[in-house]
This record gives sequence, structure tokens and C-alpha cells, in this order.
Amino acid sequence: MRLKNHFAGLLAAAFSLLLPPAVMAEEPVAQPLAIDMSSRVAPVVRLLFVGDIMLADGPGRAIAAGRDPFAAFADEFADADVRIGNLECAIASSGKALDKIYTFRANPQVIEKLSGRFHALSVANNHAGDYGHEAFLETLSLLDIAGVKAFGGGRNLTEAHAPYWVERGGLRIAILGYNEFKPRAFEAGPDWPGVAWSEDSHVVRGIEAARAAGADIVIPFMHWGWEREREPSARQRQLARLMIDAGADAVVGGHPHVTQGSEIYEGKPIIYSLGNFVFDGFDYPEAQQGWLLRMAVSQEGVRNWEVIPAYMDVEGLPQRKPVAAAPQVPVPTPAQGSPAVSLAEQPAISTPPR
Ligand SMILES: [Zn+2]
Repeated sequence: MRLKNHFAGLLAAAFSLLLPPAVMAEEPVAQPLAIDMSSRVAPVVRLLFVGDIMLADGPGRAIAAGRDPFAAFADEFADADVRIGNLECAIASSGKALDKIYTFRANPQVIEKLSGRFHALSVANNHAGDYGHEAFLETLSLLDIAGVKAFGGGRNLTEAHAPYWVERGGLRIAILGYNEFKPRAFEAGPDWPGVAWSEDSHVVRGIEAARAAGADIVIPFMHWGWEREREPSARQRQLARLMIDAGADAVVGGHPHVTQGSEIYEGKPIIYSLGNFVFDGFDYPEAQQGWLLRMAVSQEGVRNWEVIPAYMDVEGLPQRKPVAAAPQVPVPTPAQGSPAVSLAEQPAISTPPR
């Protein structure tokens, strides 16, 4: 008996080495050949979420110099059925910087690094609107052309609140995007563009509407919480519970520029903040580490999930291993689409909200 258990353990260990971690929850089951597996095995869809992607400044210069910001995690991208991130900047040549301390606008050439990599990007954040409506609309158009679906924002209120819908293996998945980090001035309106604002009643309605429209899996991707805080706030915890009570299968978040841990509520995972993924200009080391989240979902909900750390190098590009801190080199000429106040010139600022 003991030997049998031992052997079974060895077998399981051997299988677990062969399988990608995101599907390890399911014991491998032998199936007769020449049978349509899809009719017999609940399909498992592998999702990949990454945090804040800011493609101006350091990352923008790195891309202009020919670097691929996502190269270090090409395997994780290739391994996922659906790849989702948070686009924390405008991508445009139009527009004018709003009156904010930090404003981010990336050169339209960066779009080719997103194309084919991401299925969808949330624009529900506090920087997508940094260069006003014209640049925001240009961003949406560029993403459209690149085949990347924007969600959490749109050309009007209805479009902004529409989920990103994706179907894989017969599983219908709805991802919703909401921002609750001010300024609220860039919220979409009945006939003007902007982001989806995280009003409790609207979020609950969005989740319920996705369910009613036939979603098997609903996941809100939130932009929330306080910067630098390693723990989620009472507000985040309250809203996360509300969303799960309303029918969300999991909650994923970002914005604080640091990771914030996770918890399970009613059997559903809440990953409060993925932190940064592509971002530079921070003067505290916690902001240079983020998480990639791999999540396997099926008809039954979230089957398994794990996070993989990513470490930003001096240009703000994610790497697999920590990169020794290098002194910030002053940048003589601002990059195309540079912030109104260059971060490189402002290292001593006591980190106001971004
Ligand atoms: Zn943010």
C-alpha cells in the first residue's frame, strides 16, 4: 500500500514535470485515441495577466533602440491561450499633455511590440487619458489596427463598460476593466470617450450583465489601491468581495506599482496587485518587481493559478532575474512623447501619485 502510494506520487511528480504549471491541478486521465477529446474533457483555458505597461520614457527609448520589452517572458506568452495586460499610457502622436505631474505618451511605433503578443489591454487606468481625448482615440485606433482589443475604456460610456469577450474551447470568458484612481475627469460619458469608472453599482451591474449574456467565466481587472502600499486597502477588500458575491470567478488588480498579495474568498482568488511589468523611473526597489499571473480556467471556474516574478531593468523592461541597480543616467533629450516633467530630471521628488 505504502509502495503503491509512493509509486503514484512518483508518477504524479513525473507528470507534473511534463505539464505546464497552470494545468497541474487536473490529474492526467488516459483517454482512448480517435475520440473527440473536447466532448469528453472540460477544456482548460490558460490566461496570462501582466500589470502596468508604460511604453514612453525608458521603455520607449529601449524599443526605439530595437529591444523587445517582452522577450524575457516569450515562453510564458507562447504558453498562454489569452494574454492580457494594463496599458498605462497613451500611444499616439496627437494630443497635448494634461496638467498632471506625470504624463505618458508612447511613440506609435511601439504598437508593433504589442501586436501578436496581447489579445487585450485594459485602458481603465489613470494614464490612458494623459494626452486628452484625441490621443486616447488614436490609441484605441492603433490598438484596433494591431488586433489588440482595448477594454475598460472606449469611444463612449457603453463601449467603455463593455467587457473583453473571448471564447476558447467553447468557454466564454468576459474580462471587465475599471479604474478608480483619480482623476475621474477622464471618465467616458454618454457620447464622449474615456475610461470605465469603478462605481460599485456599475461594477456589479457589469458582472451580472456578462453572466446574463452567457459568460462562463467573469474576471474584473481593476486599477485601484494606494501606491507603494504592500497590503490591499479596506476599500479594495470590500470591493473584491462585492464583485465575487456578484458572480466574479476571480479578481485581478494593479496600479500600486508594487505587488499586494492575494487571498481566497468564497473559494475564488483575489490577486490585489500585479505591480509593474514594463515601467521605469521609480526610486524605490519594490516598484521594480512585478508579477505575471498564470490562471487556468474551465467551466467550473478557476482551476489553478500561480504568479511568476519579473524584475525591471534600468530601462524598465522586465527580466527573469533581479538586475543590479545602475545609477540613473540623465537623459539629455526627452524622448518622443516625453512627459511634461521628465522623470529622469526629477529623481528626488518624494514620489507623488502616478
Ligand atoms: Zn496607475
